[in-house]
Amino acid sequence: MPIRIVTGGISQETNTFQWQPTTLEDFQRGSSAIHRGEDILALEGTGTVYGGVIAEAKRQGIELIPTTFARAVPGGRVTRHAFETLCEEILDGLRRAQPFDGVLLVIHGAMALEHHDDGEGLLLRAVRDLVGPDIPIVSPLDLHTNLSDEMMALADAFVGYKEYPHIDTAETGARALQILVETIRGNIRPAMAHVRLPLIVPNQSMVTTWQSPLKTAIDRAREIEREPGVVAATVLGGFPFADVPFAGVSTIVVTDNDPVLARRYATELARICWDLRETFRIEPTPIPDAIAEAMAAPPGSVYVLADIADSGASGTAGDGTAVLKGLLEANARSAAVAQIMDPEAVHACIDAGVGATVTLRVGGKHDGLHGEPVEVTGMVRLIHEGSFVLAGPMGKGTVASRGKTVVLEIGGRDGIELQLTELRGHPNDLNFFRAFGIEPTERRILVLKSAAHFRAAFEPIATKVIEVDAPGISSPRLERFDYRKLRRPIYPLDPETTWSPEA
Ligand SMILES: [Zn+2]
Repeated sequence: MPIRIVTGGISQETNTFQWQPTTLEDFQRGSSAIHRGEDILALEGTGTVYGGVIAEAKRQGIELIPTTFARAVPGGRVTRHAFETLCEEILDGLRRAQPFDGVLLVIHGAMALEHHDDGEGLLLRAVRDLVGPDIPIVSPLDLHTNLSDEMMALADAFVGYKEYPHIDTAETGARALQILVETIRGNIRPAMAHVRLPLIVPNQSMVTTWQSPLKTAIDRAREIEREPGVVAATVLGGFPFADVPFAGVSTIVVTDNDPVLARRYATELARICWDLRETFRIEPTPIPDAIAEAMAAPPGSVYVLADIADSGASGTAGDGTAVLKGLLEANARSAAVAQIMDPEAVHACIDAGVGATVTLRVGGKHDGLHGEPVEVTGMVRLIHEGSFVLAGPMGKGTVASRGKTVVLEIGGRDGIELQLTELRGHPNDLNFFRAFGIEPTERRILVLKSAAHFRAAFEPIATKVIEVDAPGISSPRLERFDYRKLRRPIYPLDPETTWSPEA
C-alpha cells in the first residue's frame, strides 16, 4: 500500500489595517483562486508550494489526495463565511479520504479572520480534532508568518521559506512533504521548539537579496539544518501590518526526537535576531530626491522606485498616488507606473475608448491612507482584460490578473505610462509591463507598488532600486501604525524592551 497523504489548505496574508474584508468572492477573482480536487494537482510544474509537493510525491510514489486549496491576494481580514465554507470543504475532503497516513496542510501563517486573530490556529484545530492525535500534520510556512502558540501545539512540524522574495516556495513544499513522509515511515519523530521575540520589524528588512538582518539569522538556520539530528530550522520575520497579539519575529527548530536540541537552536536563532534588533530599520528616500536622481542618471539607466508603503502583496489599498504626483510635478519622462487600482477610472477609460484623450482623477479613493486623488490627462493607449502568465522567478507559470487594465499615456510617447487596474496587484514579474506592451528594460523609471517581491525579477534589470517614502499601510515606519492588540512591550515601539531566553 502506498502512503496516503491528504492535502489542502487556505492561504491568505491579512493586513488588519485594510478595512475591506476578504470575502469568498475575493478568493475567486483576479490572481486569487480556489483549487478543488484535481485542480490542485494541476499546479504541477509551477513555482509554488504545490509545484514542489506534487513533484516530491511523484518522486517518492506517495498517493496525494487533494481536497480544497484556496489562496487569496493579501488583503483585509477573511470573513467568517469564507473561512467556514473553505474549512468545511477541507474537513469534508478529509472525511472522504479516510483512511490516510498524514496531512499536508498548506497555509500562509498570517491569516486573521473577522472573528478571530489566528486563522491558521483555528484551521489547524479543526483538522486536528478530525484526524485525532496520531495522524501527523505538517505545514510549510510563509516567511511572514505570525506564529501563535496554538499553531505550534497543533502541528507536528513546520518548515518556513528562507527567501524573500519567496523564490523557494516549491523547495519548501517538497521539504514539508519529505518531513511528513519520514514521520509516517517512522524514520523520524519530530520534536519542535519555538521562540517568539518581543520584536516587530518592517517587511523590507527581511529581504534576502541583500545581507539584511533577517538573512543573517537565516544563513545560520541553513547551517543548523546540516547538523545531525536537525530536521528543519526556520526564522520567521512575521507580518508587521497585522495588529494581532502574536505578530513579529519568531524561530522554529524541528529535531528528530530531541526537544532540548530544538530549544537550544531555536533560542540561538532568536538571539541572533535580538542582537541585531537595532539594524532592522529602513530609511526610505523622499520621493522628489528619488525622482531627481533617476532623471539625472545616464541614458539607458533603469531606476526602480519601489512604493513600499502601498504594496499589493501586503494587502494595502493599491491606489496610492504619492509617487505619481511626484512624477507629474517633476515632469518626469520615460516613466512607467504599475499600477494604480481605480475601477472607476478604468471604466471611464473603457467608455472613452482606445485613442481617446481623457482627464480623470485617479487613485487615493480607497481609504484615505495612500494619498489624495490626482488629476491626470492622457491618451488611452491600451485596454486589456488583465490576465497574463508569470515568467518568474516567483510564481512561474501561474496566472496573475488585476482585472480590466488600461494603459494611459500621459505627456506623449516618452512621458508617463500609467496602468490603471480594477483590482490591486503586486508587480513581482516583468510581465506586469510586457503583457501591456511596455518594455521595462527600456524605461528610465519603473514605479512598483511592492515591498520586496519585485526584487526577484527587477533587481537583475535595474541600475538602482530606491525605496521611496510614501504614505500607506505597508510602510516600514511602524511607529505610524495604531496597534491595539499587539503584545507590549515590543521593540522598537517600546525602546526599553528587554529579552533573555528562558533558563
Ligand atoms: Zn510572505
